[in-house]
Amino acid sequence: MSRFGLIVAGLLALLLIGFASIVRVTGPGWSGAGGGGVATGTTIGKGTSYAGTLVIPVQGVSTAALHDDWAEPRGDGTRVHHAIDIMAARGTPVLAAADGRIEKLFQSRLGGTTIYQRSADGGTVFYYAHLDHYAPTLVEGQAVKAGQEIAAVGSTGDADAGAPHLHFEIHAMAPGERWWQGTEVNPYPVLARK
Ligand SMILES: [Zn+2]
Repeated sequence: MSRFGLIVAGLLALLLIGFASIVRVTGPGWSGAGGGGVATGTTIGKGTSYAGTLVIPVQGVSTAALHDDWAEPRGDGTRVHHAIDIMAARGTPVLAAADGRIEKLFQSRLGGTTIYQRSADGGTVFYYAHLDHYAPTLVEGQAVKAGQEIAAVGSTGDADAGAPHLHFEIHAMAPGERWWQGTEVNPYPVLARK
């Protein structure tokens, strides 16, 4: 299946989860291997599981400066934005949102220069896109600490060159899911501690 197909399937799944979110208590594999850091998908979605624990992944940005642009249309309405865009000057350090491991360094048409970071307990993937460049020594498999500089803000991929920003996604991962899989949850309430 194409990457686009996977994304469409993911969005459909997310819609279904959204409709069921009120009653959804737990799901297979949402608790992650460790079971301690990541609770259910519902609590991630409400921002309770990670609330107060994630580093805002752009240096110098306060919670008040964050803007909830989850579910805004993109690509002339062909896609839905399942991420948060954090505006910052080109070259501003991008920071690891949590402890974990660099799982994949990937170049994509839309995302440009990107990083997929797996959380320490394996249950979450953090995705950082439109990066100007990686931190000089960054490699796949590398362990990183929350707040560690991993890249720089840019406008690679389909970002407006005049509006550099970090496109940041949080994916709740079922056991065995790979870096391009998972279910997107809204980063805004988590990062903004709402
Ligand atoms: Zn974005």
